[in-house]
Amino acid sequence: MSATIEIDPGSGFCFGVVTAIRKAEEVLDSNGTLYCLGDIVHNSSEVERLRSRGLVTITHADLESLHDVKVLLRAHGEPPSTYETAKRNNIEIIDATCPVVLRLQQRIKHTFDNDRDTQIVIYGKNGHAEVNGLVGQTQGKAIVAENIDDLRKVDFSRNISLYSQTTKSPQGFRHMIDEINTRKADSALFEHFDTICRQVSGRSESLRRFAADHDVVLFVSGAKSSNGKVLCAECTGVNPRTHLIAGPEDIKPEWLHNSMSIGICGATSTPRWLMEDVKTAVSEILKTSCNG
Ligand code: SF4
Repeated sequence: MSATIEIDPGSGFCFGVVTAIRKAEEVLDSNGTLYCLGDIVHNSSEVERLRSRGLVTITHADLESLHDVKVLLRAHGEPPSTYETAKRNNIEIIDATCPVVLRLQQRIKHTFDNDRDTQIVIYGKNGHAEVNGLVGQTQGKAIVAENIDDLRKVDFSRNISLYSQTTKSPQGFRHMIDEINTRKADSALFEHFDTICRQVSGRSESLRRFAADHDVVLFVSGAKSSNGKVLCAECTGVNPRTHLIAGPEDIKPEWLHNSMSIGICGATSTPRWLMEDVKTAVSEILKTSCNG
């Protein structure tokens, strides 16, 4: 009996990334060259596909020296300083900031502008592009807490407003809330806003079911994707035979031994075509091992 190979129908790009890529392709079709501030998506294969069509990835330092060009801002969003640089250098911004991130930026800015006494805490990864964009709404004053240890930066005698980077785990956020509630002074007000994107957290449950239903799981994701790490950990939790791979070249044939069903899934930054390539590679390996 031959093994089944299934791609998770719920895996793949979220609408924020789909929109950013569509915007990039529209400009590339008409213009030929477009600059993108940072990788358009945390997936090197998709970055390479768009690079071959004329998308040039640049850094913030590069942006300072560019003039009179078009620059795409990816779904993660950017701090106000990026827009100021673009204006100064006559750069046309193609803004692909995801609407979910944009709303979060506006909420944080509103709190910062209207209540300077409250400390804004962002549960997120230090240095992550989305987090940099959020901290930028507060003139750099927001406190980034990646883990419980980072809460040492918070003054628990003062009011606190807690937000989350859109791709963090709901359990981690809950843990932060509990810890702050334990430490804060009775007189301090504490508000928390679950700003985790449901495109990510909503996937956990169906992904866990998918992973549990297969003997072996190949989770396809770029190493830089924080969403990928969170979702892959969910799969490993229910199926220890889960392997994180960047593409077909990472598959080890021995992983597939004694397995009747192989599941292929990925992060919100994983292109569908890459999961299809992995499926083709798996069926080639299985064919070879059957004939060998
Ligand atoms: S994960 Fe959510 S917030 Fe992030 S880009 Fe995708 S849709 Fe937008």
